[in-house]
Amino acid sequence: MNKTIVYLDNNATTKVHPLVVDAMLPYFKELYFNPGATYQEANLIKNVLDKSRAAIAKFLGAKDADEIIFTGSATESNNLAIQGALKINSSRKHIITTEVEHPSVYSQCKYLEDQGCEVTYLSVSPDGRLDIKELINAIRPDTAIVSIMLANNETGVVFPVESISRVVKLTDDKIIFHTDATQAVGKMNIALNGSFNYVDMLSLSGHKIYAPKGVGVLYWRKQSERAPLIVGGHQEKGLRAGTENIPYIVALGKAIELIDRNMEKYRNEVGDLRDQLEGFIEANIPDVIINGKNCFRLDNTISVSFKGIEGESIVYALNDHGICVSTGSACSSGDLSLSRVIKSIRLPDEYSHGTIRISLGLDTTDLEIEIVKKVLPRVVETLRKISPFYDL
Ligand code: PMP
Repeated sequence: MNKTIVYLDNNATTKVHPLVVDAMLPYFKELYFNPGATYQEANLIKNVLDKSRAAIAKFLGAKDADEIIFTGSATESNNLAIQGALKINSSRKHIITTEVEHPSVYSQCKYLEDQGCEVTYLSVSPDGRLDIKELINAIRPDTAIVSIMLANNETGVVFPVESISRVVKLTDDKIIFHTDATQAVGKMNIALNGSFNYVDMLSLSGHKIYAPKGVGVLYWRKQSERAPLIVGGHQEKGLRAGTENIPYIVALGKAIELIDRNMEKYRNEVGDLRDQLEGFIEANIPDVIINGKNCFRLDNTISVSFKGIEGESIVYALNDHGICVSTGSACSSGDLSLSRVIKSIRLPDEYSHGTIRISLGLDTTDLEIEIVKKVLPRVVETLRKISPFYDL
């Protein structure tokens, strides 16, 4: 691909960092041994596996490295978390989650409803907030798990998981509290034995933090009861059987090390660029709504709705200029119906269909933002001129 692109879809995936590629390559070549074998060469790989696990545990503030279970994706982690909680609380069949979760939680809950579970989907307010009273009222004696994401992939809105998990666990400490932190990791502090000490389970994904696709983690607090997730081997303390994907696990360990160093950059540089672009859009394009603007949000995400035009048309038109953004979650793109997350914040119809997500990354430059500033107003103006739904 020779086209110069301005990549602003980092909530969908990130480019693997060159240092991460360098770190993983030897494990495809000379260091290919199975960590479960007994010879010295294999022991070396086992040490590498332990090192990655320890680095991730330290980064998340986990007490014990054995609380880190490597998986193949955050989707897998989310599935295993919810199904694991139902196994442990086997007499309970009620799940609490939100209307705005990623499909790996939301669609799974829909599936579990078909299997006989009952699910409460908490609503969000028009600016994207959760109502804690609604959550408290939803807790029942048969609630097995509460699964509430830390940061939303479409709007970037951060839910107060620290206080929500505390309320849940102090109400009934048998309820397992899970959070999908896939979008939040590396962008905000997570201290599993500090402010997040009521969280029992947490999911994350490698490819949102400059590691490859196909590796994830489920943090599962040791003091809560744990049950096997995938059986058939001793790996991952018997919780998730299957030979470990060493190159990708090494990559994740390296990515965590790099993201840890860059946390301030997210807050300052990425946050400044986001605010600059968002301010520009509001000042220079009429009839726009910035979703979640008054909420605590990820520093890299803009969810913006343009009146009278279609989000898909904006995405295609921007892409003609080499700019990559999306209408919402990549996991539901191709589906032209309105995003569930956007529906839940109840925007006026003439705005909701014109929603796009712009998500910056650690490598986004001033120049790239300048390009968007030049192109976006023209794209919106042109589309509005031909739109039957926008009254000029
Ligand atoms: N949860 C959230 C909030 C996400 O944004 C994503 C990725 N779009 C996932 C889960 C799934 O991650 P993975 O691609 O690793 O399965």
